[in-house]
Amino acid sequence: MFIYALDSNIINITMKQAKPLEQIEALFEQAQLHKNYAQRYIKLARTIASRSRMHIPTRLRGSYCKKCNSLLGRTRIRNRMIVKVCNVCGTVRRKKMVTHTKIA
Ligand SMILES: [Zn+2]
Repeated sequence: MFIYALDSNIINITMKQAKPLEQIEALFEQAQLHKNYAQRYIKLARTIASRSRMHIPTRLRGSYCKKCNSLLGRTRIRNRMIVKVCNVCGTVRRKKMVTHTKIA
């Protein structure tokens, strides 16, 4: 086991998972650069993740459409919710915003 630092989240990964993680990150990078092939790159990254029994890193997890594997387009904030809409299939993803609780 060794420690891999990613976006200030320290994740413990095994040696077997180090290479797939590298591949996943490279594929997402390529998807950003070549938008025409984004769906293929992301599908491949998700396949690699499932075969190596690991999650897509949190930083990348919210950046693609889970239905059609394309990169998500516009992001809006509405009623303390982060709303992301897929430009290809129109799927809407909503996530609660993390807000700090008030001190009484
Ligand atoms: Zn979609």
